[in-house]
Amino acid sequence: MDYLAGLNPSQRSAVEQTEGPVMIVAGAGSGKTRVITYRVAHLIQKGVDPFNILVLTFTNKAAKEMRERIMKVVGQEAKNIWMGTFHSVFARILRVEAELIGYPKNFTIYDTDDTKSLIRAIIKEMNLDDKLYNANHVYGRISSAKNNLISPQEYNKNEAIMAEDISNGRGQLGQIYMTYAQRCYRAGAMDFDDLLFKTNVLLNKFPDVLHKYQHQFKYLMVDEYQDTNFSQYLIVKRLAAVNENICVVGDDAQSIYAFRGANIQNILNFQKDYPDVRVFKLEQNYRSTKMIVNAANSIIEKNQNQLEKNVFSENEDGEKIKVARAFSDNEEGKIVAEAISQEKALKGLQYKDFAILYRTNAQSRAMEEALRKLGVPYKLYGGTSFYQRKEIKDLIAYFRLTFNPNDEEALKRVINYPRRGIGDTTIEKIMVAADQQQYRLWDVVANAQMFLDGRSATAVGNFALMIQSFQAAAKTASAFDVAMHIAQHSGILKDLYEDKSVEGLSRYENIQELLNGIKEFSEREDLEEKGLDIFMQDIALLTNDDNDKDPNADTVSLMTIHSSKGLEFPAVFIVGLEENLFPSQLSLNSRSELEEERRLFYVAVTRAEKKLHLSYATSRYRWGTLNNCEPSRFLDELNPACLELDFHSKTAANMYTDGGFQSERVAWKQRETDTFSKPKPKMVKTTSILPKAHVPTQGFAPSDTSRLQVGMQVEHERFGFGKVVNLEGNKPDVKATIFFKELGQKQLLLKFAKLRIV
Ligand code: ATP
Ligand code: MG
Repeated sequence: MDYLAGLNPSQRSAVEQTEGPVMIVAGAGSGKTRVITYRVAHLIQKGVDPFNILVLTFTNKAAKEMRERIMKVVGQEAKNIWMGTFHSVFARILRVEAELIGYPKNFTIYDTDDTKSLIRAIIKEMNLDDKLYNANHVYGRISSAKNNLISPQEYNKNEAIMAEDISNGRGQLGQIYMTYAQRCYRAGAMDFDDLLFKTNVLLNKFPDVLHKYQHQFKYLMVDEYQDTNFSQYLIVKRLAAVNENICVVGDDAQSIYAFRGANIQNILNFQKDYPDVRVFKLEQNYRSTKMIVNAANSIIEKNQNQLEKNVFSENEDGEKIKVARAFSDNEEGKIVAEAISQEKALKGLQYKDFAILYRTNAQSRAMEEALRKLGVPYKLYGGTSFYQRKEIKDLIAYFRLTFNPNDEEALKRVINYPRRGIGDTTIEKIMVAADQQQYRLWDVVANAQMFLDGRSATAVGNFALMIQSFQAAAKTASAFDVAMHIAQHSGILKDLYEDKSVEGLSRYENIQELLNGIKEFSEREDLEEKGLDIFMQDIALLTNDDNDKDPNADTVSLMTIHSSKGLEFPAVFIVGLEENLFPSQLSLNSRSELEEERRLFYVAVTRAEKKLHLSYATSRYRWGTLNNCEPSRFLDELNPACLELDFHSKTAANMYTDGGFQSERVAWKQRETDTFSKPKPKMVKTTSILPKAHVPTQGFAPSDTSRLQVGMQVEHERFGFGKVVNLEGNKPDVKATIFFKELGQKQLLLKFAKLRIV
């Protein structure tokens, strides 16, 4: 039993309590994930069949790592554990059972782009105002309905919901939801939320199926339970109802997905659902230094809504947390990149020991630029993943059609790409015919001559023949051969090959890269099923966080705080600690939103093992405008004894003659603390820490800057008087370098700058 030696007594009891309901609610870094990992290994050592174990994790990456660790204890048997995200596990189950609920086994999974494009199409068809019915907003409403298990029919019958929509001027939302659901059904497609929604339908409607899985999954475990939504909660509850061998672990202080419907109550209700639950406390943090744990505690205690927890560390005291102030986002990037290079050399670390965490994806640009300049290798998580690139999605759309010809979004994408003379009107005719006569889309396409005339009938007919030939190929050939066949015969390879621009070349290479990936997949020896359809299932559920090709590569990790959940790094940089950015401007309307931001900060801080750096910029471009930024209130909330101010930036030192953070802290303190009673703060704020605010000359009216020349004197609305030093770039993107009397040199985009020629 020495594999249990790496556990403390409470962790060990939680691992050994394999029967009955178990809940562990404990702080960050206390070994919750470790307990699940060991628990699974322990179950298998005790003789439980891995096929009877279901483990639900928050990312595919977490599942993969867990499986690798378990494999070290129990060997190859670990492959048979049912382990993955809710979405991937239940997509796998739906593949088997889909026909029961009227879907083809080869149903398509619509990604966010497909979903939004379909929603946009429906809004257009219904002649609705696409500003009022913004696709993102509509998607959010539909998603939240599904995650609360409200079907389109129920949505439309629910008076409270309808009244709310009507009062917001969006009375048609229910109808959009209804049409959207019908279209997905007709296309044999499920979106991400459907994977959970339909699983609930399946388990609810078919008691035999429910029994089958209840008996299959004798042991259930859920990591990051605080971030489950109602739909997920109910699946788990149903599956566990017979054996009640369910173990959930989580931390209410790390609940950061309420905006996506996660419900912290799931933790609080667990004890009500299972009155004989055994609750285990884990209080020792093994991840971080005492300094970091103290700092993290000092943040989270500001939240009113939290379960009492005592988290301590017996690791070394550790160094203080460095706080850096930068003049701009670019300078912040430079400070971070330099600190990484220095610390790596000084402490003998590797690049992969560092992570840069930010609130929004847009912040990565300045970081990337600075890292590139210093030649620091990095990997960006999130952003546009490989599988989201246009050319990749185009080829995959052909694959999708091959396996599910009803897939409407795939059809719309490639029916006329590469060009084959099928115009929008023809596509519309196909849709209308399918709609009016309740045909499946494919029935219309495959019988084009019945619905269309002349040339368009021939063109669509040929397209259908081509897809049919792909289907025939898919029956016999290997994944790679089918993929290659489709890439060639669809005309995609030729189209990209003929584009000799740099972008065209890189698109062509991307397609090659995809084909290489499929080749590797079709040669894998550990898989029984290696068809192209199986490959497609794998990639449909890859999230941006999972596109990790080589976990051993020595690169700095860049990601949003949301994606960093559950991870740990020896050195962490949290950047952009500014009001309206972090906490986000959108979260300042209620205490509960602000508390979620604070939990996000807690998550960020607790990713660090040994060294934590915080930084903020005093000005930053957002939406093309240079804004003055105020340091984040979260800096103020940290225990000052844990902080060390590191204002080594030359520009900053010149600007701030008072030389310190303390005076800024005083300035912040004077600020009204109760944001809740105040109206939403404006985007642009002037702070007391800037040099005397410039009061524009009376009647300030921006001049026409097209006649601006080097040497001219100007007045800027906020920066005051200055002289044009340089002009570069072409209209409308001319950049002016201006030397301001108060602020020194600055570069401004003329189209946004409010300048008066003096
Ligand atoms: P989070 O809340 O961030 O998800 P967690 O509670 O899941 O954290 P783990 O990731 O399981 O915490 O553990 C944090 C770190 O502490 C890991 O590196 C883990 O290996 C280590 N650790 C946990 N328990 C022990 C222990 N008993 N002895 C040594 N190391 C431990
Ligand atoms: Mg964890």
